[in-house]
Amino acid sequence: MADEEFPKEDDTHYQIYGKRAWEVEYGEKCEKCGKRIDEFGFCACGSAG
Ligand SMILES: [Zn+2]
Repeated sequence: MADEEFPKEDDTHYQIYGKRAWEVEYGEKCEKCGKRIDEFGFCACGSAG
């Protein structure tokens, strides 16, 4: 059993970004907080690319 198997309808991240959280490709790091920025150029701290 895979615990990550749950319906897309119940996946908030999927509804927002159109893909599952583990499918998002992370690249650059944020200059402000040092965390990874997602493929859309957004960081959790609110700083964009
Ligand atoms: Zn940041």
